[in-house]
Amino acid sequence: MNRAKGTEAESEKETAIEAAMGEILNEVQAWKEQHPQARFSEMEEQVLKVRKRFGEEMMRELLEGRAEAHPVPGPQCPECRKEMHYKGEKKRRVVSSIGETRVNRGNYYCSKCRRSVFPPG
Ligand SMILES: [Zn+2]
Repeated sequence: MNRAKGTEAESEKETAIEAAMGEILNEVQAWKEQHPQARFSEMEEQVLKVRKRFGEEMMRELLEGRAEAHPVPGPQCPECRKEMHYKGEKKRRVVSSIGETRVNRGNYYCSKCRRSVFPPG
């Protein structure tokens, strides 16, 4: 990680992902203290759970960081070709091979055609 090159927005994002990772690590630590006699299979189960969450956090980080999530100017309305207006962010569920991730995506709306899109889809 190169902190010196990042903008302020980027370093805020880095902090958010670091906080999520830190939380996961703390839970692992707490679990270890609560289960000093854990069997191998129990540890294995715990690691698989953590691995899933870790993957989901990473996926969210990558998805939310994409520039296409908030294009400026807004995308063209598929009906009337006019520029669509930004209507704020909405939580969307993204399913991938990693698992299920909830991410904030920009929502664009055409008041004439009453259509909304989440670019790039
Ligand atoms: Zn339209």
